[in-house]
Amino acid sequence: MSDLTHLKNELAGCMICADRFAATATAHRPNPVVWFQQGARLLIASQAPGMKVHKANTPFWDASGKRLRDWLGVDEATFYDRSRVAIVPMAFCFPGYNAAGSDLPPPKVCAATWRQPILGALEGVELTVLIGGYAQKWHLGTKTGVTETVAGWRDHAPKLFPLPHPSWRNTAWLKRNPWFEAELLPVLRARVKEVLDG
Ligand code: SF4
Repeated sequence: MSDLTHLKNELAGCMICADRFAATATAHRPNPVVWFQQGARLLIASQAPGMKVHKANTPFWDASGKRLRDWLGVDEATFYDRSRVAIVPMAFCFPGYNAAGSDLPPPKVCAATWRQPILGALEGVELTVLIGGYAQKWHLGTKTGVTETVAGWRDHAPKLFPLPHPSWRNTAWLKRNPWFEAELLPVLRARVKEVLDG
């Protein structure tokens, strides 16, 4: 059994956060959304599943996924083709809601336990998109906020592209930062096509 297959099997049964999740309002059980395999050339370093993804067991199974596919310039079939696209979030399970009804942050223990081994075993990744502040801080070691980090995308391209989260909550951010769609996205789409076409 390969290292990556072994890791996937271990991850699928992970219960590290069982007590933490049981104490949230939804009192849910861990359900790691495992979506990667050897051969993927595009890595999506995302944040954590939301409730819809938790239930569907499929990453970005919500409006965020539609927007992200538009940003990347890929259709649904390509996006969900694990032989081409790996989706490795900062936490593999839905973290629960806070008192305001927003998603809790990804539990740090998840990245501390799983991220390095999985990324180390995943060979052949040529392009990584970093979605949101947690992934950007982990991969880039930045201390800046998302806007500043994304605005500095040219410092990391063509191997890494920091992006805001494609959530509807960031629609106002997109309006305030028109350079994102006008300048970053055309370069990102061209790079994604180049990487996926091999
Ligand atoms: S979030 Fe990560 S560490 Fe926590 S139970 Fe899920 S897979 Fe395990």
